[in-house]
Amino acid sequence: MAEKLAIDGGTPVRERMLPYGRHVVDEADVQAVAEVLRGAWLTTGPTVEAYEQAFAEYVGAKHAVAVNSGTAALHVAAHAAGLGPNDEAIVPALSFVATANCVRYCGAAPVFADVEEDTCLIDTDRIVSLITERTKAILPVDYAGQPVDLDVINDIARRHDLVVIEDAAHALGAMYRGKRIGSHAAMTVFSTHPVKHIATGEGGVVTTDDDALATRLRAFRNHGIEVDARERERRGDWVYDMGELGYNYRMPDILCALGLSQLGKLDAWLERRRDIAMRYDAAFRDVPAVMPLTQLPDRESAWHLYVIRLNAEYLRADRRQVFQALRAEGIGVNVHYLPIYWHSYYRQMGYLKGLCPVAEAQYDRLITLPLWAGMTDADAGDVVQALCKVVAAYAA
Ligand SMILES: *Cc1c(COP(=O)(O)O)cnc(C)c1O
Repeated sequence: MAEKLAIDGGTPVRERMLPYGRHVVDEADVQAVAEVLRGAWLTTGPTVEAYEQAFAEYVGAKHAVAVNSGTAALHVAAHAAGLGPNDEAIVPALSFVATANCVRYCGAAPVFADVEEDTCLIDTDRIVSLITERTKAILPVDYAGQPVDLDVINDIARRHDLVVIEDAAHALGAMYRGKRIGSHAAMTVFSTHPVKHIATGEGGVVTTDDDALATRLRAFRNHGIEVDARERERRGDWVYDMGELGYNYRMPDILCALGLSQLGKLDAWLERRRDIAMRYDAAFRDVPAVMPLTQLPDRESAWHLYVIRLNAEYLRADRRQVFQALRAEGIGVNVHYLPIYWHSYYRQMGYLKGLCPVAEAQYDRLITLPLWAGMTDADAGDVVQALCKVVAAYAA
């Protein structure tokens, strides 16, 4: 007989809710931040430069440009790609809203592409049919941490003269065909929000091998001014020119100190995330109601999220019931994502339900399980126990 679920008054697997994602900050991180606080620069100073250099080196790109959120990173990249009013950019339907919003910030229109059922990555077979005279960029998303097919997307972009902005907010440290992501696309965008791989509170980075793009990225994050305050100080000059309308998206030295300290732990954290993911894979191998996303042989996920798809054939409960039952067991599950164009803002712009049928069907069955580097084996065991308990209770 199935165990009584916590949602029905049974004993929960955990008393305290296990979050789906969380940062890890240790004493060395605190020290690194404190040191900057005692120094001469709180915002754009030497630590920004050190962080950018370390980040660029880590991902194997020529330039890294740090900004104060992943969303700002997408905006500076969309601007550097030349997106403007009357342009279009292709965006997968299943992502965080920021992937599409950055296109809107530039006055351009997102064109939503459907995703593949087994990976939730943009369906590369559909991209070409969405290209029009107005298309200027593609913004593929490395969903859950697994890189998109960058060779295929770059090839399409080359043939149609488009700029590829890879939204790698989920994928810091991931590999595509044996090489770390960060320089495959024209620009690669990362986030350092606390649920992502390294935390700076808020923060984002754009990496690129292109000198001209790097110059545009740097100016746009600083009001459109091409010389920053530190550089003026060095030159002993007050003159600067604002060549175009930019924003203040600068990343403070304080936060870059945290980022730099966190970066040193990234490899160990990636390994830990992978360990937990492998544990989940093994535990669910014989649970037909639970289908993890397919991992492709030429990619190495950075395991930002562990996403499962529920198999309705084996369940007499829907996603909402399974989700609520898991929360009641103390497992802080989440859902990534509502199709972007289902949000009121995009609905009001005229995007209709039914536009991307695979993404919409996937949305109905996705659940994100807790996965972060600071989780213990016992935490991971609780997740497995709770999910097995819930699907057994709701077995069809
Ligand atoms: C987190 C995230 C962003 C935005 O990053 P912020 O740092 O929160 O602004 C963009 N795209 C995706 C896919 C994300 O997951």
